[in-house]
Amino acid sequence: MGIIDNVKDIAELIKKYNNVELNRKIIDLRDEIFELRENNLKLKEENKISEKIVFEKPYYWLKDGLKKDGPYCQKCYDDNKKLIRLQEMRDFPGCWKCSVCKCDFTDSSYKPNNFDSVHNGGSSMSS
Ligand SMILES: [Zn+2]
Repeated sequence: MGIIDNVKDIAELIKKYNNVELNRKIIDLRDEIFELRENNLKLKEENKISEKIVFEKPYYWLKDGLKKDGPYCQKCYDDNKKLIRLQEMRDFPGCWKCSVCKCDFTDSSYKPNNFDSVHNGGSSMSS
């Protein structure tokens, strides 16, 4: 029998005594149990994620066997355990943006435009 069923049974028993204060107490207790169960589920969920999440500079991935999902924002996850999928910027391959915290991440495939590669080195002629 689960804890909720137990509390229900106790509530039924208490009704027989017709005691308002006892009734109120058991309702409070039931609410607290619901809250604890919810927190417990949330923690289990976070636990599951923390087993699968992998940090690969500069962002997170979820790894499940051979499957790899992501990338996810490092800041959002570290801040409040939120998994926010990063969006790759269309004109800048390798540059990722988080739509929540607005952080940019650049990975190893990102190539910034190299303007000084066409620099004319050499000797200057004096006239
Ligand atoms: Zn973020």
